[in-house]
Parts: sequence; structure tokens; C-alpha cells
Amino acid sequence: MNTFQESGLRPDIVKAVAELGFEKPTPIQEKTIPFILSSDRDLVALAQTGTGKTAAFGLPMIHNIDELSKTVQGLVLCPTRELCMQITNDLDYFSKYLSGLFVVPVYGGTSIDKQIKALGRGGQIVVGTPGRVLDLIKRKKLKLEAIKYLVLDEADEMLNMGFKEDLDAILSKTPEGRRSMLFSATMPKEIASMAKRYMHNSEEISVGKKNSGAENVQHHYYVVQASNRYLALKRIVDYSPSIYGIVFCRTRRETQEVAEKLMQDGYNADALHGDLSQAQRDYVMSRFRSKHLQLLVATDVAARGLDVNDLTHIINYNLPDELEAYIHRSGRTGRAGKHGISITIVHGRETNKIAQLERKVGKPFEHKLVPNGQEVCEKQLFSLIDKVEWVEVDESTIEGYLDVIYKKLAWLPREELIKRFVSVEFNRFLAYYKDAADLNISAKKVREKKNSRASNMNFTRFHINLGSRNKVSVIDLISLINKHTGNQSIEIGKIEILNNFSFFEIDKSHEEQIIHAFRNVTRDGLKIKVEISKSKGKPEGEERFSGSRRYDKPGGSKGRSAWKGKRDGKPDWKKSKSKGKRKFRN
Ligand code: ADP
Ligand code: MG
Repeated sequence: MNTFQESGLRPDIVKAVAELGFEKPTPIQEKTIPFILSSDRDLVALAQTGTGKTAAFGLPMIHNIDELSKTVQGLVLCPTRELCMQITNDLDYFSKYLSGLFVVPVYGGTSIDKQIKALGRGGQIVVGTPGRVLDLIKRKKLKLEAIKYLVLDEADEMLNMGFKEDLDAILSKTPEGRRSMLFSATMPKEIASMAKRYMHNSEEISVGKKNSGAENVQHHYYVVQASNRYLALKRIVDYSPSIYGIVFCRTRRETQEVAEKLMQDGYNADALHGDLSQAQRDYVMSRFRSKHLQLLVATDVAARGLDVNDLTHIINYNLPDELEAYIHRSGRTGRAGKHGISITIVHGRETNKIAQLERKVGKPFEHKLVPNGQEVCEKQLFSLIDKVEWVEVDESTIEGYLDVIYKKLAWLPREELIKRFVSVEFNRFLAYYKDAADLNISAKKVREKKNSRASNMNFTRFHINLGSRNKVSVIDLISLINKHTGNQSIEIGKIEILNNFSFFEIDKSHEEQIIHAFRNVTRDGLKIKVEISKSKGKPEGEERFSGSRRYDKPGGSKGRSAWKGKRDGKPDWKKSKSKGKRKFRN
């Protein structure tokens, strides 16, 4: 199937798709649509964000809906209310020419009565979040007896969000003969086992790692002190005056804090996370979609699956715990042939993650330097001048004021006038950046710190019964410590890997935490033992590999990651020309 015309979909659907501007099916659509139309087996489909999964299940499902019957025939489950509305919206577009077909969204956090009424009016497709769907089933307002299609969209995220029990309960209430389709960006073990439990003879379709926009995304990273993260964010944003992007944080709290700070500092930003009321979330999303907001500060969950076009930047204020999520994050920019930049702000100790990300993404990441005050000011200045040059003048309205304005400013020569106009806008930046410090951690500083650290820090030396014999590297040890303490900011000193065991130093104040964290840990069947090392001296006759989380370049990065970056003249951030409305919606 190379075109929608030859897909076998009803002409009314093909017509609607053409109006949306879809010229040809995306790879996942190319595979799933014929499969769903021609077979009655279940389906597990894996594809990255932004690859067109909604149409991949939506079009063939709509094709097979009987719009003359008012019973619910299709149920789509998805993790958030925003996604629910987005999917409903998409399905509405696809079924534009099927006048009898109705799609009803149901989600929590809002009046259930209205949704019950909407269901009562009869919809053939229900799109819902698991909690609310289950509630409606229990109240006998949503009947699943006639369900032909059950779609789990963003299934991995639903499991991450703890919807497993709800999903189990819903699935157990759907009729035997229904077809299940599970769409997910990743295939963790839980998804595989869910597929096994609920699906019979299912076909797995996956379209590689390719994201429609992945080739157009450049990956940049900045290395700063952890305490300078926010300042670095501001500079990065200031250096890109026409930014339209999402700033990803790790927790709801951090999301709220960063958004609040940005707002206080005069940025056009707001937060999107699960602690907000539904009304607040809707309001934020509509402002962001209409580009009244430049920066959306969000958690992964809140922003999952949301389809917003023309984003110029994704900023990883903090990297996600699961690096896989980076792919979803960065895949939100660089869509539809446009260029996008995915930025990560890391502190010195996190640079090892950049190497891991490079491997995951399959592309080198560029180490950029946080622009200095002068560079930011120049950039802002040119952006302002550019705006002045291109601003649309509403001749008829301004006409009436011009006489007064001319009169008032008549005494100023042209040069003086220009200076003043620019200063009105620009003084804020000049003042803020007047004595701005260099935020970059330079290779030299890192080395200096490395040398002075031993004398400054108060470390405890631990012994661990893993060594190079167990195929443990410095990075493995760091990951183990991070993983089992759940705290990546614990200061780690020197690490020595020996044949049969290893030593690592930890900030003294975390002694107990380390002991506690490793109490019941096994690795490849071996029970890990961690104890405070009694020997201060160095054992003899052992081969040594040493390093430290903080300062050494991590192994395996093939020289691509930290500390290699040189100041490469002025960064070349293209100004986004994208303006105006979202593409396929009004
Ligand atoms: P996913 O669910 O995989 O993240 P979506 O279904 O939200 O992706 O689609 C992402 C974007 O791509 C949407 O804006 C959608 O309208 C657009 N899109 C989907 N299919 C096509 C197509 N065949 N041609 C062009 N654009 C498409
Ligand atoms: Mg989707």
C-alpha cells in the first residue's frame, strides 16, 4: 500500500485524509492499515512518538465501524486527558464525512454526568483514560458487549502510570471475540506479558527506531554546575529569542518551580503536570498550541503523546530516569521536515549519560558552551532590530497618533531616536548580563577540581565484592550506586576496580545510605557485599583501573562526549520562521 487511495479504506475516509494533507501513509500506517483491514488477528505495534500511530489504528477502525448502529464498537484507552482529547479530535477529522459516526471522550477530573449524557446520546467509539472508563463500566453507563476493537494507545506509559490493575479489570470485561491492538513506543517486559495474557495469536509490527523527525534533530548539551542549571536555562532561552519549545523536568515539583521562576523572570512560560486541575491543564495547553506561550515546562507523563507542531527546541532541564524517555522527548521537535534542536543541560557528573544517549540515539551530541552575557545581548539586539524591520504596521490605526508622536519626538536626531527605542526594550538584558559569569565547566576547571577535591572532601572508602573478573567497569559501579541509592547527587570520589573486588569513595554523610542501599542486592546471581573498607593502604598484586564519577571522562564514549567541545565561534541557532496556526487543526 503506497497511497491511501489504494489502501482499501472507504472513499469517505480517504477524502478526509487527503484534506488533512496526508500525502502518503507513514511506515507504521503502511504496515498496520492493510493488516487490520485484511486479518482478524490481534496486533502489537511498536513505533516512536510522532510516527502517525493514531491514524494507524484510527483509520482502519473507523472503516469497520457500523455508524448505523449506535452501540459502542471501538474503545481506545490512553494515559492522559490531553491525549484523550487529541485522539478524539483526530478521529473526528478522519470520520468527517461519515455523518452518523460519533466519538465520545471520557476522562477523569471532570464531571462524569456530562460524559454519561454524551454516552447516552450514542457514540460508536469511546476514547478514555482507564480510571474513568472503569468507573463508567461499573456504573453500567458504558457497555462493552459489542466492542469489536480495543486499542491501548501509549500502553507503556499507561503501565508506568500505574494503570495496570484498571487495565486488567477493563480487559476482563471486553468480549472474547474483540480485536485488541496495543500501540506502544517501547516494549518493556510488562507490555510483553500483557500482550501474552490478553492477546491471542497476535502479530507484532514494529517500524525500527526511526522517528519521522529524528534525522532533523540536532542534539546539543551544556555542562554546568548543578547549581547553575536554571541560570544556564535562562541563557539558552535568551540566546534563542524565537524559541517555541518544551522544557522537560523530572518531577511535578521541579516542573512547577522552574515554570514559576521563569514566569517571575518575565518569560512567556507555564507548567503542565499532573498536580494541576484539568481546567488549568486545558488552559495551558490551548495557550501553548496557539503559541501564546513560548515555553511549556512539563513532566514526561503530562506531555506524552501530545502532538504540537513546529517546536523549535526541546530542553532537557534534567534528564529522565529512563534514558529511553529522551527519545520521546527529542522526537517532539524536528517534525514534518523542519529542523529541531534537543538540548540537554548536565552537570559534570552526568556526562557519562551523554555517551549512553549518543549510543541510544545513534548520533553524536554536540558539546555547546553556554553563551556569555555579551553573546546573549548581541543575539537579543539583532532579534529586536529584526522585529523592528519586519513588524507589520497598522497604518490606519497608527495614523491618528502620529502627529502627537512626531511633535513629542521632534527634538531628537535620528541616531538618538534609534538608540532610545532600542534601549527601551534592551536595558533589561544589558543590566542582567552586565557582569554575567561564565557558567561553563571548563576542562581546566574540572582538572583543577579533581586535584583539589581529595583534600576538600570527606570521603569514606567502601569495599565491594565485584571486580573486573565480574566484568564491572567504573561506569557500572557508578550506575549501581545511582540505582540502588536512588540518588544521583551523592558525591563519589575515587573508584578503584581490582580483579576480585573494588573500592569506591563516598561522601561521608552518605555512609549509612550506602550500606542500607546494598543490603539485599544481587548481580548476575551473586549477592553483593558492600562494607566500609578497613584498609587505608592499597592492596598489592592487583591490576588497577581507577576513575571517578565526577571528573573522569567515562569509558566507552569514544571521545565524542564530554570535554571535547571547543568554543566553535558563534553557535548557529537558526531563527525559527514558523509562525501561525497548527497544521491540521483549526
Ligand atoms: P504518534 O501517535 O505516533 O505519536 P500521531 O498520530 O500523533 O503520532 O501523529 C503525529 C503527527 O503526524 C500528527 O500531526 C498527524 O496529523 C501527522 N500525520 C499522521 N499521519 C500522517 C501522514 N500520513 N502524513 C502526514 N502527516 C501525518
Ligand atoms: Mg499517539
